[in-house]
Amino acid sequence: MVEEELMKTLFLMSLLLIGLGLPVASEEKVADYQATADRIVEASRATETGWERLSTLCTLYPHRLSGTQGLEEAIDWIVREMKKDGFDRVTTEEVTVPHWERGAESLVVLKEKPETLAVLALGGSVSTGPDGVEAEILVVDSYQDLEAKKEQARGKIVVFNVPFTTYGETVGYRITGASRAADAGAVAALLRSVTPHSLATPHTGVMLYDADSKKIPFGAITPEAAQHFHRLQQAGQATRVKLILETRSYPDKISRNIIAEIRGSQFPEEVVVLGGHIDGWDIGEGAQDDGGGSLMCWEALRTLSQLGLKPRRTVRVVLWTNEENGLQGAKTYRRLHDLEIKNHVLAIESDYGTFHPTGFAFTGQEPAVAMLQEIVSLLDSSVGEMKVRTPGGGADIGPLMAEGVPGAALTHNSKKYFWYHHSPADTLDKIEPKDFTDCVATLAVTVFVVADLPQRLPFGKPGD
Ligand SMILES: [Zn+2]
Repeated sequence: MVEEELMKTLFLMSLLLIGLGLPVASEEKVADYQATADRIVEASRATETGWERLSTLCTLYPHRLSGTQGLEEAIDWIVREMKKDGFDRVTTEEVTVPHWERGAESLVVLKEKPETLAVLALGGSVSTGPDGVEAEILVVDSYQDLEAKKEQARGKIVVFNVPFTTYGETVGYRITGASRAADAGAVAALLRSVTPHSLATPHTGVMLYDADSKKIPFGAITPEAAQHFHRLQQAGQATRVKLILETRSYPDKISRNIIAEIRGSQFPEEVVVLGGHIDGWDIGEGAQDDGGGSLMCWEALRTLSQLGLKPRRTVRVVLWTNEENGLQGAKTYRRLHDLEIKNHVLAIESDYGTFHPTGFAFTGQEPAVAMLQEIVSLLDSSVGEMKVRTPGGGADIGPLMAEGVPGAALTHNSKKYFWYHHSPADTLDKIEPKDFTDCVATLAVTVFVVADLPQRLPFGKPGD
């Protein structure tokens, strides 16, 4: 009886301490999750379901551009499969997306024996029409160079032969190059594909027009071709080409974000989000960008579900639509979940390909950085050394992060990511199954511990 009284007093004291937000002896600490983390890693390695599903996505649903039937068929298939996984909730949310499609395209160098080169229209480009554009080319290596050669640009096809530095820096030419070339009087423009390494593949991607510039067709050529044109120009030789880029813009369409959840046992309203984008380009298989990233999040959730792990908070996979050419999936998710933004404990985006995981690039408050570092260190002994670097984030979680939701991107040994990105070479064979599994394990352990720890990851931006 006395002992019972004592236990009761201790119990009440611990409740009081929890109420005061002070740690109590019975609360789990990150280190207490080591055995669970090891179990999750083991379970993710013991199955091929995730890899087989990635293979199916890449094989049967390789082209997933917004507005197309291909994307919607991929979404239908994923939803059907997810419903077999025993999640607490699988649903979709409608998103209005742009609809642009490429048609016939070709680039022929007009010479005694005409030579056909690889070309890809950039997403959003206007069409040349079926007859194409025939003109001499002018090669420039920067906007300054274009300015200097402005007098020669009129009536020509401007080729931007811009060497790759970083993606963030070089991609600016893809976004705004057409309008700059049009302002100089060009009739069309071609871009040296944005990649640090090439085996003669062109890379597409989204482009935009300035409202007050003339809209001219804009395509991507291989870095090899761009440099060849440059050397011909240096040698004083004029090059004439015929460019056909038949593209078409249609009215907006309805697509969907996919949502799957394990409901939290204690704080179901608090959500840990992880996801990738389910849309992709209309070439290659969208394996690295972002089939792998999407499927590893889904598989991480399935791994937790298979193990019967039910965290205190909800873990939610979101597969965003329309990341590539509009970000409407991310914007719509932010809008539809407006009232629960403050309950988003952490948002993780996986959109840097599928390579050996190295940790996260994270933006959040200092204590959150330290907490996350401690959590990912649970993987050091099984998957490999994990580091949380700052800052970090991603396109699809950007709208949430703008409201103070801590955000993280899964990081990899991704030196080769932009070799394949947006090109016909982005195919399943570029992914190692072991890397995929290690990414699944990393995500599953991280989201589980963040969702289950008694104390919540602090909300807010650094310095808030
Ligand atoms: Zn992507």
